[in-house]
Amino acid sequence: MTELVRAEGIEYQAITRGALYLHRDPAELEAGIKKMALLAEHGQKQEILDGNGVARLEPAFEPVKGKIAGAIRDVGDSSGDSRLFSEELARVCRDKHGVTVRLGTRVTALRADGDRIDGVVTSAGVLTADAYVLALGVGAPIVARTAGVRLPIYPAKGYSSTFPLKPGGLAPMISGVDEQWLVGWSRLGDRLRLTSTAEFAGYDWGWTPRDFNNILRLARDLFPDAADYTRGEYRACLRPMTPDGPPILGLGRHRNLFLNCGHGHMGWTMACGTARIVTDLMIGRMPDLDLDGLTVRR
Ligand SMILES: Cc1cc2nc3c(=O)[nH]c(=O)nc-3n(C[C@H](O)[C@H](O)[C@H](O)COP(=O)(O)OP(=O)(O)OC[C@H]3O[C@@H](n4cnc5c(N)ncnc54)[C@H](O)[C@@H]3O)c2cc1C
Repeated sequence: MTELVRAEGIEYQAITRGALYLHRDPAELEAGIKKMALLAEHGQKQEILDGNGVARLEPAFEPVKGKIAGAIRDVGDSSGDSRLFSEELARVCRDKHGVTVRLGTRVTALRADGDRIDGVVTSAGVLTADAYVLALGVGAPIVARTAGVRLPIYPAKGYSSTFPLKPGGLAPMISGVDEQWLVGWSRLGDRLRLTSTAEFAGYDWGWTPRDFNNILRLARDLFPDAADYTRGEYRACLRPMTPDGPPILGLGRHRNLFLNCGHGHMGWTMACGTARIVTDLMIGRMPDLDLDGLTVRR
């Protein structure tokens, strides 16, 4: 992703100052440190901070540091506006590579002929290609089924809210997660985004104001005057979860249908890496990563 952003000059309100995994309780912090050690063993750079250290790094916590036992800072983490990133990337693909983006077109079925896909049935007619990539999030298992492919992907519903920052308010720059209240925050330019919750509710994108109670409770507890909490934009969204976590990549039973789905709660983080893997497979190049545990057969 870093390479792509640099090469194409993609602007997406990125903040590359790591992420804070915040704990309110000292025992939970100790347990969190043990859990995160696994990532450190695999090369992820981390720092352990106490409440004062958190406030020194991120002044938004100075008035509330008494509530914080400490934090694990994942130094390599970053945040940004994923929608802006996708729109900018689509623009580069269109302008530089002649890619056609068809928004508002619904895929209703895959048309299979033996071990090949020979067309995609859409609301704008049948489209044909040499190769197809299935990357439809929670829509992937529904469309895959039309060609007899069963994908173990199920929606896990989450809630996202975005608030305008108050002029002169004390808003966080560094993104993070309150590991006790399970709410995440990210600064997106002059807005603050807060997200939370994983629910099994099927294909239900609905929400009510009370679904955001824990988000607003956290916002008022940690960042009381950061943003105007009366002017939120709210939505519910569905994470495409697999039973064991990792996404499903590469070929299934058709020779020209490549899978790139099931990214769960980390889809943006993994998007560029998994796209590279699937591209490598499509052009017959060996991917950098061992695909054991990442294909449909696992
Ligand atoms: C609250 C919340 C917070 C999150 N936070 C993070 C985070 O901090 N970092 C991170 O990396 N990830 C995060 N995620 C996860 C991330 O959003 C997903 O993993 C990611 O969006 C999955 O990407 P995708 O392209 O597979 O699916 P999607 O982003 O869902 O995109 C699939 C697209 O396919 C379209 N589609 C589906 N079916 C059809 C069809 N039949 N015809 C035409 N189009 C169709 C959909 O409309 C959609 O546009 C979060 C998710 C939630 C819910």
